Amino acid sequence: MTDLHTLLLRELGPDIVCSDEALTRDCSHDESEQAPVIPDAVVAPTDPLQVETLLRLAAEHRFPVTPRGTGTGKSGGSVPVRGGAVLTLHRMDHVLELDPENLLAVVEPGVTCARLQRDAEAAGVFYPPDPASLETCSLGGNVAENAGGPRAFRYGVTREYVLGLEAVRVGGERFDVGHRPVKGVSGYDLTALLTGSEGTLAVFTKLIFKLIPRPGDPGLLILYFPVLQDAVRAVTLLVQRRFFPMALELLDRPSLEAARGPGFSPPDDAGGALFCELEGLAGNEATGRAVLDCLATAGCPPSGFELRRDPGEAGAAWDARRDVSKRLKARYAHKISEDVAVPRALLPELVRNVGEIADGLGLGSACYGHAGDGNLHVNFVTDGDPSRFSMAVERLFRVTLLLGGTLSGEHGIGTLKRRFLPAEHAPAALAMFHAVKRAWDPLDLLNPGKIL
Ligand SMILES: Cc1cc2nc3c(=O)[nH]c(=O)nc-3n(C[C@H](O)[C@H](O)[C@H](O)COP(=O)(O)OP(=O)(O)OC[C@H]3O[C@@H](n4cnc5c(N)ncnc54)[C@H](O)[C@@H]3O)c2cc1C
Repeated sequence: MTDLHTLLLRELGPDIVCSDEALTRDCSHDESEQAPVIPDAVVAPTDPLQVETLLRLAAEHRFPVTPRGTGTGKSGGSVPVRGGAVLTLHRMDHVLELDPENLLAVVEPGVTCARLQRDAEAAGVFYPPDPASLETCSLGGNVAENAGGPRAFRYGVTREYVLGLEAVRVGGERFDVGHRPVKGVSGYDLTALLTGSEGTLAVFTKLIFKLIPRPGDPGLLILYFPVLQDAVRAVTLLVQRRFFPMALELLDRPSLEAARGPGFSPPDDAGGALFCELEGLAGNEATGRAVLDCLATAGCPPSGFELRRDPGEAGAAWDARRDVSKRLKARYAHKISEDVAVPRALLPELVRNVGEIADGLGLGSACYGHAGDGNLHVNFVTDGDPSRFSMAVERLFRVTLLLGGTLSGEHGIGTLKRRFLPAEHAPAALAMFHAVKRAWDPLDLLNPGKIL
């Protein structure tokens, strides 16, 4: 038992300070390639007052605190790389208000994204953000990472839905930012600053989300193309011709192979596919036909397609798409996954470069993800020596930035991409990042070693 564990046990009690080895091990890692670090203590509050106490003690005794949702992060954000306490918020999991009249929900941070979606649907309204991890990831983690997902193409990322929140700073001070009405421009927008701050500025203890009216029942049109470049080109063609699907997801050949299974059998000769989710398609296939006609007229017809209007059939294909990351990991001895984004029309360039980088280094690659947003999960894979991954990633980041893109579309910087941050941001911007961190957390105790 560490000294910190003993101190916290005395101050917060055994119900809140965990002595369970399995949970402590869980809190040592996330879903990224960041090496695990066992924390000195794990604190699992059920009430914001306990969060206040922990963060007061952190300032008094100068120990680091790493906030954690459910550990599905892909950039090392919830790994306690400097030791200290992990503050896991999974037990604060109540939906406090669901108000269809005012189209808002107030929740604790440990509620999962899927739970809010289901509760909203039951109340006849809609919470659009849908990270592929939605069944397990927490809304606190979603806000801290400004999570995206397939439907971000049509509806925007988590930030568009955070109206306000309650947070606690190191020192133990709890405060509210933002507002409940959909509009509000009083003072600096601290809600926007905290959204995407990766647990480095404050700990969220309550979140106010905007909801929207439910759209017409969606259906899924899966478009198969003979070569990957046609699938990528089709994305911009559809947008140029004023189609606005709910989601527009790309899968290349290796990703299609990984996704293959019960409920999803792509044709053997498909070089790439687009998952095109269309509002109202479940009740009327006309919008699906219009997409097919548009691509034929534009000279980019798919070689095959599937119209999945039944929710169960569409759901099976979406489950396969959401599992691609896990299944790719199981197929290869080594895999590294990145999350770059470029302006949408430059996706063909990005995809061509990924192929060249992989071929040049004797690696395999698999690209899938949110093509409508120009955001791809680029994976390098091998059954041999993974030492060339770092060269592949450096080349990928160089190309991405040359194309006017960004190092992370949605997974955040965490520990894994911090050394690349100066390649994307000017020294003046980096200085402002440091100034913001100092203003909120001058002792560098909240999630140290992340982003900066
Ligand atoms: C299979 C799979 C698919 C995924 N698909 C997507 C996707 O489509 N889109 C996407 O955006 N991401 C995706 N992710 C990444 C991940 O699920 C998201 O980043 C998610 O938002 C993390 O939530 P979490 O609860 O797991 O947070 P954690 O991993 O526990 O933490 C993530 C970060 O949030 C901070 N944090 C957590 N809770 C709080 C809080 N209450 N207050 C302050 N800081 C906090 C942590 O310190 C850490 O920096 C995927 C991950 C997996 C494994």
